[in-house]
Amino acid sequence: MESGTNPRRPDPRFTLPGSGEPFRTAFAVAPIALAILAADGRIDMANAAFCELLGRSSDDLNGIRLSDLYVGEGDARSAGVDYVLPPGQERCSVEVWFNHDQQQPLRCVLSLALVRGKGGEAPYYVAQVRDITTERIAERRLAQYAGELERSNQELEQLATVVSHDLQAPLRTLRGYAQLLIDEYGRLLDEQGIRWTSYVMNGADRMQVLIGDLLKVARVQAHSSPVIETDLTPIVTRAWERIGLMYAAASPELASEPLPVVAVDEIQIEQVFQNLFDNAVKYRRQDAPPRVRLNVSRLRDEWQFAVSDNGIGLEMVHSRRIFEVFQRLHADHEYDGTGIGLAVCKKIIERHRGRIWVESSPGSGSTFYFTIPDADWGHFTRDAS
Ligand code: ADP
Repeated sequence: MESGTNPRRPDPRFTLPGSGEPFRTAFAVAPIALAILAADGRIDMANAAFCELLGRSSDDLNGIRLSDLYVGEGDARSAGVDYVLPPGQERCSVEVWFNHDQQQPLRCVLSLALVRGKGGEAPYYVAQVRDITTERIAERRLAQYAGELERSNQELEQLATVVSHDLQAPLRTLRGYAQLLIDEYGRLLDEQGIRWTSYVMNGADRMQVLIGDLLKVARVQAHSSPVIETDLTPIVTRAWERIGLMYAAASPELASEPLPVVAVDEIQIEQVFQNLFDNAVKYRRQDAPPRVRLNVSRLRDEWQFAVSDNGIGLEMVHSRRIFEVFQRLHADHEYDGTGIGLAVCKKIIERHRGRIWVESSPGSGSTFYFTIPDADWGHFTRDAS
C-alpha cells in the first residue's frame, strides 16, 4: 500500500495544520479516507485509507481533480459541488458515485471543508470520503422487500374481501330457500326431511359466521387507525365490562396492575384485550370461578403484558397452532367459537411490531403474553397511518 503522502508535491506554501510530524503521521495513518485538495480542486495529498478506498496509488491520485473520479452526473454536480465548493460556501456534504479502479463504483458521502491559510497562503480543501455502498444497497433491498410485502398483503386482503363477499350471496340463497322449504312445505315433509333441511340452514349459518370471521382477519390491516400514545386503563376497563356482561352467570373477576400509556391503535388493542379476556373466561374450569390477572412489565425497549387465567389450560405442543386462522383444540359443541380470536390478536400485535405467545399446561391455567415496543415509533406511525 502507498504511504498516502506525496513526496513530489512541489507547492512549498502547503503545510498541514500544526505542520509537525505527528500531524503528518496522523493524517497518513488515519482509518478514515482523507485528502487535501489544492484551491483548483486537484488532489495534493491523499492518505492511505483514501487510496485504499478508491483502489489507486497516491501517485495515480496526486494532481488529478476529485471530480475526475466521479461516475456520471452525480448528486455532487447537481448540488453544485463540481470539484470545489461553490462561492461563499465553506463546507458541504454530498453523496456521489466514485469510480473504483478494480471494482464497481462506490456510493460515498463526500465532505468538503475549505481551510483558509494564514498569512495569505492559498486556501485548500480537506476532503473526507465515507463508503456507504453496502448501507445503500441494504436500504434499497429492504425498501423493495417492504414494498413487495405491502403489495402482497394488500392483494391478500382484497382477495379475502372479494371471496368473502362473493361467498355470502349464494349462501344467503341457500339459507333463504331452506327456510322457505320449511315455512311453505314443512307440512309435506316428514320428521327426517325437516331435520335434514335444518342441517342445511345450520350449515349455512355456520358458514356465514366463518366468512364474517375471515373478514375480521383480513381487515386488521385495511381498517387500521394511526398509532398514538394511549392510556390503556379505559381500554382495558371497557373490554372487561363487555366480558362481565357476556359471562355474568360465571361471576368472572379481573385483577389488573396499573396500566401505562403506550403508543397503540386504540381500537385494535382493545380487540386484543377483549379476545384474550374472552378466552380466559370461556375456557374456564367447571370447578373454579374464572379469575383473570393482567400483569404489566417494563422491559428494555418494550412493554410486556400477561393475561393469566385459572382455566383448563392447554398442551404446549399446540402453542403455535392456536394462533393460526380457524385452529381450535375443541369441538364446536364443547366451546363456542370459530378459532379466529387469537389469529386476529397475532395480526394486530405483529402490526404493532410486538410478539404474542402462550405458556400453559392442562389443568393449570394459561398465560398469554404480548409485547408492544416503545422505540422507533416515528417510523412505525408513518408506516401504519
Ligand atoms: P376460539 O376461542 O374461537 O376457538 P381462538 O383463536 O381465540 O378461537 O382460540 C384458539 C384455541 O386456543 C381455542 O379453541 C382453545 O382451544 C385455545 N385457547 C385459547 N385461549 C385459551 C385459554 N385461555 N385457555 C385454554 N385454551 C385456550
